[in-house]
Amino acid sequence: MRVLLLGGTGEARDLAEALVADGVDVTSSLAGRVARPRLPVGKVRIGGFGGVEGLRSALADYDVVVDATHPFALGMTTNAAAACAAEGIPLVRLERPGWGERATASWIWVDTHEQAAIVAGELGHRPFLTVGRQELARFVPRLRDLHVLARVVDPPDIEIPEDWELLMSRGPYALEGEKALMVDRDVLVTKDSGGSHTWPKMEAAAELGIPVVVVRRAAAPDGVDTVHDVDAVVEWLRLRS
Ligand code: NAP
Repeated sequence: MRVLLLGGTGEARDLAEALVADGVDVTSSLAGRVARPRLPVGKVRIGGFGGVEGLRSALADYDVVVDATHPFALGMTTNAAAACAAEGIPLVRLERPGWGERATASWIWVDTHEQAAIVAGELGHRPFLTVGRQELARFVPRLRDLHVLARVVDPPDIEIPEDWELLMSRGPYALEGEKALMVDRDVLVTKDSGGSHTWPKMEAAAELGIPVVVVRRAAAPDGVDTVHDVDAVVEWLRLRS
């Protein structure tokens, strides 16, 4: 069985490791967004497929697809659902649970990054943005004049306002470091990414009494089998091999 594993996440790397150890023929696919990606073990391809049609062509080389992309990589998830349905290729989605169950009263949920920008601007003067470099442009109109700290993996491709500070780093992060970083911040903005690598910022916000603006996940495509951990994907694949 030839598996195409759409990755770019820690879970995808863990899954690649488990499948390679099991002797499964797996190819991990990365978008090629970050300059120095953490590469999974096994075969890797890098770069977009060219939309649904390009992915449909690429599927000729695979028997099954695992979509383990980030919960906010909705474009790839939508394309995978459409291409696999059109080609009759089995698809399973590996999606880490969101943070909703751990929400506190100081979290404000919003549906879009534009709403997050409005709320953050109402709540503070020194926001800490942890939404990824691709979303920063959506915060500039509202937060241009505030003292924003924006944490990103790679430099954004937009011009950052004068009063903004960029922090280039990649998780996982630890609680003490997050608290030190956030001690002079008055609002945290995040996506509901889930997982443990970036969770300490939420704990730090709670300990420092800082409100958190959380962007909700969009609904995923209907009709796709979805599981929440690596073992469940391995089992799903075993049942089909
Ligand atoms: P996106 O908006 O869903 O995808 C945009 C386009 O990028 C896709 O249509 C596809 O191009 C290409 N692409 C995305 N993931 C790919 C993959 N795994 N392999 C090959 N092509 C891929 O994605 P995004 O939000 O920019 O995220 C890009 C990658 O970063 C994803 O792999 C995701 O897992 C990872 N990531 C995203 C976030 C986030 O917050 N969005 C956070 C951490 C990691 P074509 O249409 O040309 O095929």
